[in-house]
Amino acid sequence: MSKIFVFVEGHGSELKKGSLELLNAAKQSGREVIAGLVGPGTKALAAKAGQNGAKTVFVCDDAGLGHYNPDTFTAAVSTMVKESGADVVLASSSVMARDLFPRVAARLDSGVASDCTVLELSASGVKVRKPLYSGKCTAEVEFVNSPVRFVLMRPNQLPVGAADAAATATVREFPLPAGSGKITCKEMVKGASNKTDLTEANAIVSGGRGMQNAENFKILDDLANTLGATVGASRAVADAGWVPHSMQVGQTGKTVAPSLYIAAGISGAIQHLAGMSGSKVIVAINKDPDAPIFQKSTYGIVGDLFEVIPKLTEEFKKALHK
Ligand SMILES: Cc1cc2nc3c(=O)[nH]c(=O)nc-3n(C[C@H](O)[C@H](O)[C@H](O)COP(=O)(O)OP(=O)(O)OC[C@H]3O[C@@H](n4cnc5c(N)ncnc54)[C@H](O)[C@@H]3O)c2cc1C
Repeated sequence: MSKIFVFVEGHGSELKKGSLELLNAAKQSGREVIAGLVGPGTKALAAKAGQNGAKTVFVCDDAGLGHYNPDTFTAAVSTMVKESGADVVLASSSVMARDLFPRVAARLDSGVASDCTVLELSASGVKVRKPLYSGKCTAEVEFVNSPVRFVLMRPNQLPVGAADAAATATVREFPLPAGSGKITCKEMVKGASNKTDLTEANAIVSGGRGMQNAENFKILDDLANTLGATVGASRAVADAGWVPHSMQVGQTGKTVAPSLYIAAGISGAIQHLAGMSGSKVIVAINKDPDAPIFQKSTYGIVGDLFEVIPKLTEEFKKALHK
């Protein structure tokens, strides 16, 4: 049976949703699933990877891997992938993965398809599709002469399977390869937000210039807290200094693909659409009925966001018993 390696990432004591999606896709493919976990404390997540489809879990639970370091992570993950014997590697297309996996693939003389939105896995084949030119078209990508096929999938594109609490995996521990780490990260300063990162969020409430100022984002925070969503923004808002640039969605910001994207007071410029048009359900709130965002929306609400948003929050609170 051919083997597939899934790079699994955790968030506290849970596996990230993107990793659960990949484990499920790997399990459904009929291949033998090997999961890889890297970083201090990740051994505690091995059982969860087993319950979600991994037959074997490789763990490099080394204190030296606390912060992402291209040298050490490349050494650890390359060793694991080589040892696994897998010819397909799946990882979420996170900022870290987009830096890490081209390095790992280069060591294994293989190719990478990043930012993929469609994955077709069979017992031996792999086909992917990815957006190009800010989402104006998509390309089907094929691997040629690539001993290992590295696929980085955008989160929220695939279903999560049911975990099997009784399933167990064989855990194999790997030491951090000696001599890796020419650079060292001395300190990582965390941002103020504890919210799920935009690129992994299942629901996003974004505000544009129609919000008028930074203080008014409070009404978006209320809606987001009710829905368990993360708050995003257009570039106009980030450039105005109302929110940090880390919240910007779009061509020069973050690419997101949540199940629900609510755009409030955002006109729908092509550069904004480039970052969020992969969202499953788009709800636009705009007082201008001709705003371009309505052409991309599943649902459109023509109205003043300062009336609509509080009403939506109130109704969701009732519906969700909050
Ligand atoms: C190279 C380049 C890269 C770019 N990258 C990005 C990017 O990554 N992300 C991004 O977002 N933009 C990006 N932009 C900028 C982009 O072109 C737009 O300028 C920007 O997206 C506009 O932001 P906005 O929709 O918030 O503001 P506007 O276009 O000013 O729209 C504000 C909207 O709010 C509505 N509105 C106003 N008041 C209310 C109210 N009370 N209730 C309801 N609706 C209201 C208006 O009708 C209007 O439609 C980029 C531009 C360039 C040239």
